Amino acid sequence: MPRLDDIVSFLDTLLQTAETPDYGPALNGLQLANPGEVRGVAAAVDYSMAGVDGAIAAGANLLLLHHGMFWGGAQPIRGVAYERLRKLLEHGVAVYASHLPLDRHPAFGNNVLLARELGLEPAGEFARYKTIAVGVRGEADVATAELAARARRLAESHGGTVVSTPHDASRRTRRWGICTGAGASSESLQEAAALGLDTLVVGEGPHHTGVEARELGIVVIYAGHYATETLGVRALARHVGERFGVPWTFVDAPTGL
Ligand SMILES: [Zn+2]
Repeated sequence: MPRLDDIVSFLDTLLQTAETPDYGPALNGLQLANPGEVRGVAAAVDYSMAGVDGAIAAGANLLLLHHGMFWGGAQPIRGVAYERLRKLLEHGVAVYASHLPLDRHPAFGNNVLLARELGLEPAGEFARYKTIAVGVRGEADVATAELAARARRLAESHGGTVVSTPHDASRRTRRWGICTGAGASSESLQEAAALGLDTLVVGEGPHHTGVEARELGIVVIYAGHYATETLGVRALARHVGERFGVPWTFVDAPTGL
């Protein structure tokens, strides 16, 4: 059986965990250790009881998360928080989290994989954050409605749906940008406008982004925070499973958002 330490250093290198800036609570890397060996890997988007139960039911003792254990900030370990942690410790399940390092990864990143899922080929960066770019952009010639329909298929397969800002049936997408998760913001819209993008695909965004997008002539396709972030962690679990010769699984626990 592979050692946890070996998988952790493999992931830290692959994802450039130490070099990638992020929001404090992301706490990228190993968040919870286990007694030392890994017999199976599970992946989930969020740290939740469903994710923990799914990992244990699959016999996995390494859980890869996109939104890690400390996403909601410092909280007392009682009630559900206590139960989740108790189960992890009782079954010796380690937790490794990767937020922006996974979002932006060129092979296993949410953004690259979402582009391919939508039939788009990334050709550049989008969504600057400190020293990195989280998202991707590229060119295409596809009906915006068709792009929204492709996004809808992904969203609906994970219990969500797609919302788009208004556009007519003949509109075509020629220059697009993608930023998964909470990708729509005033900043990302301004960046899109400066880059000449006409369509953005994001997970979610506040209502005012719909107003701003319309005034900038950009259509935003909101495909769901959860659905747009299922791709990376799943691909990563598969890669680790194959590389280290252990079974892997993805625990789908849709939030509906
Ligand atoms: Zn997210």
